[in-house]
Amino acid sequence: MTLLLPKPLAALCRATPGFFPEQELNALVTMTKRAVTRRPGPLLEIGSYCGKSTIALGWVAQQANTLCVTVDHHRGSIEMKPPFPFADPTLYDPVLERMDSLSTLVDTVELAQLGKSVALFVGSSQLANVALASQFSVVFIDGGHDPVSEWLDYDYFAKRVAPGGLLAIHDVFERAEDGGRPPYEIMVAALHSGDFELTGRQGSLVGLTRL
Ligand code: SAH
Ligand code: MG
Repeated sequence: MTLLLPKPLAALCRATPGFFPEQELNALVTMTKRAVTRRPGPLLEIGSYCGKSTIALGWVAQQANTLCVTVDHHRGSIEMKPPFPFADPTLYDPVLERMDSLSTLVDTVELAQLGKSVALFVGSSQLANVALASQFSVVFIDGGHDPVSEWLDYDYFAKRVAPGGLLAIHDVFERAEDGGRPPYEIMVAALHSGDFELTGRQGSLVGLTRL
């Protein structure tokens, strides 16, 4: 399938480790492009990992002459550490017993030549909540999917979506047998709040527009 990115970025995106089906990447490009056109402003990503989705958001930011801030402590989510199956042994240091995706992300952004459009925030989303004061055109939540991390991210960042902007949530599964509950629960909470309406959906990616 064709990725909705310039050829070199599409190739890099494909080669970057991460958790993003291509149809969902295209939907992320389409819905965030629409949002920054409708409501200009910076983009915020929670959960950079190695930069797969960051390439898409960074390119949208570059096209719109704005910035994408991407947040990660780079120590992996609970389910990404051994012995869980999402653990990538090439990113895990068995001596220090920790994961480190930061140097891969730095390489990804440099190879993508998106250094002027992507700002890396290295730290927990709790820290980002304190450090980042601004409103965003797009907030993309794809960090820790355990209940505490997911709900904190919702609590910290959903309210920072500017009116007319987009709250995108990844790994939303209606059926419990398809995946964890928290991303689905925060989507439901956002809809119940009355502040958002569902405007986009592709696979496990959901787009909600702030009213
Ligand atoms: N968007 C990425 C995947 C993100 S995986 C892609 O396109 O492939 C989730 C990431 O969230 C992990 O890298 C993990 O380190 C990070 N994470 C989990 N909990 C976090 C927290 N509380 N603060 C910051 N980052 C967190
Ligand atoms: Mg995800």
